[in-house]
Amino acid sequence: MLIRHRLFLPATSCLLGVLSLLAVLCFHFPQALTSQEIRALYTTEFARSLLMIGLVGAFVLGTAAFLRDQNRRVALTGLVAATAAVLLGGADVQVGAVEATPYSLGVDWFILSLLFSALVFIPLEQHLAPRQTPVLRAGWRTDVCYFFLSHVLIQLILIVVTVSTSAVAGAIAVPGVKDVVASMPGWAQFLLAVFVADVAQATLHRAYHRITTLWRFHAVHHSSRDLDWLAGSRVHFIETVMTRSTVLLPLLVLGFSTSTVNAYVILVGLQAVVAHANIGIRFGWLEYVLVLPRYHHWHHARHVDYWDRNYAIHLPLVDMLMGSFKLPRDGSWPEEYGVLKLETVPEGIVAQHLMPFRGTREYEDYVA
Ligand SMILES: [Zn+2]
Ligand SMILES: [Zn+2]
Repeated sequence: MLIRHRLFLPATSCLLGVLSLLAVLCFHFPQALTSQEIRALYTTEFARSLLMIGLVGAFVLGTAAFLRDQNRRVALTGLVAATAAVLLGGADVQVGAVEATPYSLGVDWFILSLLFSALVFIPLEQHLAPRQTPVLRAGWRTDVCYFFLSHVLIQLILIVVTVSTSAVAGAIAVPGVKDVVASMPGWAQFLLAVFVADVAQATLHRAYHRITTLWRFHAVHHSSRDLDWLAGSRVHFIETVMTRSTVLLPLLVLGFSTSTVNAYVILVGLQAVVAHANIGIRFGWLEYVLVLPRYHHWHHARHVDYWDRNYAIHLPLVDMLMGSFKLPRDGSWPEEYGVLKLETVPEGIVAQHLMPFRGTREYEDYVA
């Protein structure tokens, strides 16, 4: 069990210490490190209380780990980071000046998302995994780097996606369709948006699997040997921008309302994490209606029969229509995850980001 594991105290202290230090830096430099959109999600008082809990947790757990002689190097990292956070002002830190800025990092988004995802998913996965995997399994450092990058650069991603899609969407005018979409009730607009977005996503996803140049980017996502809530973060930066633009474009062209698009963005963020989570609950018929963990886990199976199956991320119906639906009826899970030829993807976020540009392999070299 997780709580009894020798790494639980030092690793939790280290996580809380490092996040507390980052939080104090966010208070000092809010203009550079936090973005306006994310700041709107929480109050200063909430952030201070969370910081206080983080600091106390880092000191108590780190000291306990140290006294019990449990991985003192990791515990010390937590204690040193928490001490630095206190020396820089701790929970009483003054808030730095914020002026309007066209671009800032999303360090606050990284802290909140990592903390709450870990709080929700780690206990769930420890109790409900179809096959037990350690929290700190192979490749977790790489995936934390991906998680960090995709959260800290959230505003840059949004800007690139918005600029690239608005220009194209403006040039494609389908006024008749826009009127029909605008006249639909909110819930119907949302359901249609999910379907349209998933058709666009699944079509591009199939191209990622079938076109060598695109597969070199997408292979990074499939290189995880263990799947959990964190593994889904492993996506090449160029793939993130390509996919988000491709999915947003039809939503803009068809004239879905801003609230529908925003609700869709929240859904896709949630479902992408849940689909990779190592949670083995049997959902029965619901597995045929919604993309749930077992469905997407089979997409990641290191098995030639599943190499181009289950592209949808919301609705299995989309795969049924595309002829790419495949889910074992017996409720079984894949034996193994990863690309078919393990040697084709290097380890580490830097090598993985350079890989598509160094590609000399042909399609058969990846899948034959
Ligand atoms: Zn894929
Ligand atoms: Zn995936």
